[in-house]
Amino acid sequence: MKTQLLTQNDLKQASLIIKNGGLVAIPTETVYGLSANALNGKAVEKIFKAKGRPMDNPLIVHICNINDIYKLVSDFPEKARILAENFWPGALTMVLPKSNIIPFEVSAGLETVAIRFPSHPIAMKFIEECGCPLAAPSANLSGSPSPTTARHVMDDMNGKIDAVIDGGECDVGLESTVITLAENPPRLLRPGGVTLEEMEKIIGHIEVDNAVLNALKENQKAASPGMKYKHYAPKAKVILLRGSDENYIDFVNNIIDNNTIALCYDEDIPYIKIKKMSYGIKNDYISQAHRLFSVLREIDKDESTKLVYARCPDTTGMALAVYNRIIRAAGFEVIDIG
Ligand code: AMP
Ligand code: MG
Repeated sequence: MKTQLLTQNDLKQASLIIKNGGLVAIPTETVYGLSANALNGKAVEKIFKAKGRPMDNPLIVHICNINDIYKLVSDFPEKARILAENFWPGALTMVLPKSNIIPFEVSAGLETVAIRFPSHPIAMKFIEECGCPLAAPSANLSGSPSPTTARHVMDDMNGKIDAVIDGGECDVGLESTVITLAENPPRLLRPGGVTLEEMEKIIGHIEVDNAVLNALKENQKAASPGMKYKHYAPKAKVILLRGSDENYIDFVNNIIDNNTIALCYDEDIPYIKIKKMSYGIKNDYISQAHRLFSVLREIDKDESTKLVYARCPDTTGMALAVYNRIIRAAGFEVIDIG
């Protein structure tokens, strides 16, 4: 299959691909999504094939009008309504009891469905042009870092999907926040573009699922199936170093081989003597979210790099999402260096 590289001027043409049951990668404010008609189970199945995604990992359904939610869910509780009013369109996904029109493939057999109303103007216009909700997970091969440019999508998906719409670089750079409102109190399943603190200010206490910060044990069931898989990982092995600025710099400067890279903050760069790349500014979590996936992909371009010693992010505000992604990229391997 030849993958067409399209622009925002080609939305009509791209919508015909969706109407015919094909796959189109689209820009959103979080990361690029790989979209199909969410109400067509056969089309949705192609998403799993193209990504190599396990069939038990459900997809997010994207809408372009808040009223579209009523036919997709069987209950829209008050707290969900309030979150929608405050954060939609935007980087927030809500898990709610599903209606009967959601195909088995989308919900992966669960009784719930995840819904998001994205704010990216191309995504919004495209959903409208298609005239149906779009199921769209991140447009990367399963397990690798999510794509934040059309180039990243092509690197993973060229020849496997019908088209990519190039909308430039994604703004947030990490996936949406996933929260379930199918239970009370609501529970954060994945931190992302909307922070826990912002949501708690409006709807009160939110539980944080164990899988947000910790590795699931062998026999533990994942509330969000995506959280049980190794994710976001470059080919090189990643280890997090938790400790002070000085100890991090000392630790990496004591490494003598040429196959190791320091994944640090901008401020560390002048002091580090080995190969290095930055994933953002130390206390600017937005910059870290924006750059992380792109830098993880960049690391893989140098095949001699076998080991990455990454600075351990904070866990408040937007940094919780950065921490959640990078600790998965590291397979939960952290060294305390004081
Ligand atoms: P992705 O679209 O690749 O960013 O991944 C979507 C995330 O949302 C995965 O972690 C899924 O497991 C999660 N998700 C989607 N639908 C549901 C659902 N019905 N219940 C719980 N988690 C869900
Ligand atoms: Mg993904």
